[in-house]
Amino acid sequence: MNLKIPKFATQTQIGVVSLIIIAILLTIGHQGYNHYQPGFVYLVTVNGQEVGIVRDQDDLTNIIDHLTDQEKQRTGYDVLIVEEISTKREFQFQPNIHLPNLQYSIDSLVNYEASATLILVENEPTVIVESLDLAKQIIQDVTEYYTSFIKGKIVDQPKVLNDISFENVLVKPEEIVDFESAKSLLLRGTTNFETYKVSRGDSLWNIATKANISVEELKEANNLKTNVVNEGQELKLTTAEPLIVVEIVEEVSVQESIPFTTEWKNNSSLFYWQTRVITPGVNGIKETKYQVTKINGEEVEKVKIGTEVISEPVTRIAERGTSKQSNAAVGRFRWPLASGAGQITSPFGNRNDPFSGRIAFHTGVDIGAPAGTAVYASEGGTVRIAGRQGSYGNLVVIQHSGGYATYYAHLSSINTSVGSTVSKGQLIGRVGRTGSATGNHLHFEIRTGYGAGNGNPVNPMGFFSP
Ligand SMILES: [Zn+2]
Repeated sequence: MNLKIPKFATQTQIGVVSLIIIAILLTIGHQGYNHYQPGFVYLVTVNGQEVGIVRDQDDLTNIIDHLTDQEKQRTGYDVLIVEEISTKREFQFQPNIHLPNLQYSIDSLVNYEASATLILVENEPTVIVESLDLAKQIIQDVTEYYTSFIKGKIVDQPKVLNDISFENVLVKPEEIVDFESAKSLLLRGTTNFETYKVSRGDSLWNIATKANISVEELKEANNLKTNVVNEGQELKLTTAEPLIVVEIVEEVSVQESIPFTTEWKNNSSLFYWQTRVITPGVNGIKETKYQVTKINGEEVEKVKIGTEVISEPVTRIAERGTSKQSNAAVGRFRWPLASGAGQITSPFGNRNDPFSGRIAFHTGVDIGAPAGTAVYASEGGTVRIAGRQGSYGNLVVIQHSGGYATYYAHLSSINTSVGSTVSKGQLIGRVGRTGSATGNHLHFEIRTGYGAGNGNPVNPMGFFSP
């Protein structure tokens, strides 16, 4: 497309003929309208075709100015006439000068062109826009378009990977594409970006048929893996690819948990099938940074840059029972508090004595519970002790059949008396901290061989119903 500048070629022909013409002119004299008065006029041609005459070239200039102005008003662009308009001076006896007719003839023969900017992508013409400034703005907008979808930190400014160039061109005003459409074309490969909202009863086949594309094209345009579409879903009806390829590199941080580990300890007070958590585990948190490269919004590369531990996990410490005890007494005794109440704060067996700090043998289990918590007979039997007993504080001892006895120590109050017969589950006292106790808890023992003497404490955990 080359710039064409209308030319007003003037040819003056003065020859021998002129003398004869002057003679005739003198003969005719001053008669008729000025219109038809013989004289020199300019013959106007549009691409060689005669369209009329003017007496004065300024008249033609005015007509051309008027027509281009009119076209500028209509299209909004600065336009020029494509065709070559030229004049030729000649003598006419009866010059028929009619400027409105001349204007009409020129208008009906000429085309208009506007100066515009063609955007080339990889040397391929893509779209024509009004000006170079606008073209640059569009490329800028397209480049920045994808940044709005970036959630992380942009490492590098968005880069256009294509070779973009601009060319000044003269085109029909109709060929100039408006800003938004040009942007849409470069972004999506089409100015006509139609979507379709799926209605009840629609299938890919009827939508494809309506849109005049194939099911495969429809699936490709929407990245569909199956043939299923849902009511309300928006489908793109075009398969066009973006014309401009924009690369953005962003830094993304992802927080992930670090699972805690468990450190197991053996506890002979617990059955082999029992476990007990001493310190609950807490997952740690680590933050991993990735450098993500996106092409037109789609992730193409993800590189791990580094990992930082935000918080270390806390090791869970738990005990695993080792007791294999399983005799007839297993399941015979009930938990001395309401089912589920209390928490073992100190197991049976060797432990650091809370008072002396030395390792001492703990003859029962300590069950922490608030003062006043009801204490029940673990099994039916006869009350042998119900009163204060040194470091035991308020103590209840119940003798059971088979040489068993149960001890309930540190009670705040006693609800039974020596010699009473109690049934399993009967209220016998309340949790307290009498005697040597660091806090409110029930010190509970089970003894075997009771009767002849005080018997031997055994691990109570082996006797509760599982
Ligand atoms: Zn104790």
